[in-house]
Amino acid sequence: MRLTSYGAALGVTGSCHLLEIGDARFLLDCGIFQGEGQGERNEEPLPFDPKSIDALIVSHAHLDHIGRIPLLIKAGFRGRIISTRPTYELARISLLDSARILDYDARRANRKRAKGEPRVEPLYEEEDVLETLDMWNEYLEYDRAFAVGDELEITAMDAGHILGSSFLCMTLTEGATRKKMIFSGDLGNVDKPIIRDPFVPPEADIVLLESTYGDRNHQPFSNTRREIVEAINETIARNGNVMIPSFALERAQELLYVLYEAWRDGELPKHAHIYLDSPMAIDATRIFTRHPDCYDEETVALASSGGNPFRFDALTYSRHTDESMRINNHSAGAIIIAGSGMLTGGRILHHLRRNLHREECSVIFCGYQATGTLGRKIVEGELQVEIMQHIIPVRSQVHTINGFSGHAGQDTLTWWAKQTNAKKILLVHGETRAKEALGTHLAKETRTTDISVMPFGEPIEL
Ligand code: ZN
Repeated sequence: MRLTSYGAALGVTGSCHLLEIGDARFLLDCGIFQGEGQGERNEEPLPFDPKSIDALIVSHAHLDHIGRIPLLIKAGFRGRIISTRPTYELARISLLDSARILDYDARRANRKRAKGEPRVEPLYEEEDVLETLDMWNEYLEYDRAFAVGDELEITAMDAGHILGSSFLCMTLTEGATRKKMIFSGDLGNVDKPIIRDPFVPPEADIVLLESTYGDRNHQPFSNTRREIVEAINETIARNGNVMIPSFALERAQELLYVLYEAWRDGELPKHAHIYLDSPMAIDATRIFTRHPDCYDEETVALASSGGNPFRFDALTYSRHTDESMRINNHSAGAIIIAGSGMLTGGRILHHLRRNLHREECSVIFCGYQATGTLGRKIVEGELQVEIMQHIIPVRSQVHTINGFSGHAGQDTLTWWAKQTNAKKILLVHGETRAKEALGTHLAKETRTTDISVMPFGEPIEL
């Protein structure tokens, strides 16, 4: 039995781990590399033979865990694809959106190329995604064992990271040898709206553990909630509009939950207009409404008392462009949630173009802003920025609100790892500093003596 990491080994993206048990070969996730200077890594041929893989098991629907699956299929993978049902549904909208963006970018690049110059080909196309989705038709249920084959049995447990996310508890069998291994996927932060906290894991021999926030803890979510409501109220009192750049999956729905509660409890003015101005976020919200089985206790209680954070008087969904443009009629009192989360594109740019120069307005960032993105420039205090070929002075109030992170902080990771009583912990999915800090902390706080950082492309005997 051996495990080899082909992504999320050195950094946090491109999650992809090959599990070999005898002649059987399984892949855990197949994510895309993201961030500055990482894009080219996706163009490289996959470092294993995709035709030889029997099954791919997917932990959750973020692109850094699923984004290379269409490439896998393009390269000849014909095995099974297995995940929870909400993961499949969210992956569907995410991969189709990704194919549209790749197509748009390739067309735009080709328009600039002279005749005879080689054409830019998108990494994959919508057809590859449709092919992927056709093959993705086996579903895990939380807490229920699923036999992938004689060599591998999996029980998915709620990872509390995004809707449908799971950590995978596996029994590996090779002849008379049996091992228990857990792949953490991405573990969630505690006390987040809508979804549950990560489940308590069972005991295991080996744990493959994410470490994104292995070097720090998050502020309590109640502080986050208070800060965002305050920032909105100050803006509305100044007669401004609020712009909240957001990812379409999970973050947008959590924001709606927070805004709904504040509006219902009279903490936001009753005349506030909340807009979800993103077709993809609207599609994702629909998937959330279809899976109340994934809600935490508070959200279940809310739903049974007739409350609905996804449908209330102050909330408007703007699916079509003309609906989005109508938001411009508000010079004040609008709370606009739109993508993209780091301002790398999307409708939020139109709202910024109209409002960013107005000092009574505000931009509320509640997600990580990567180096080089427009979001990062605004957060770092640039006095003017370029948006859609226009130079716009930054006069709006800029708020950065922490605590929305979907990842477990150091204490939660440690608590979780401790429950597994693992003999061996392999750290993945973190920057070097985070992995080192978590490794040191785990060595002190758990009984595990064998803690190491998973190398890239080097098989580890289990
Ligand atoms: Zn994730």
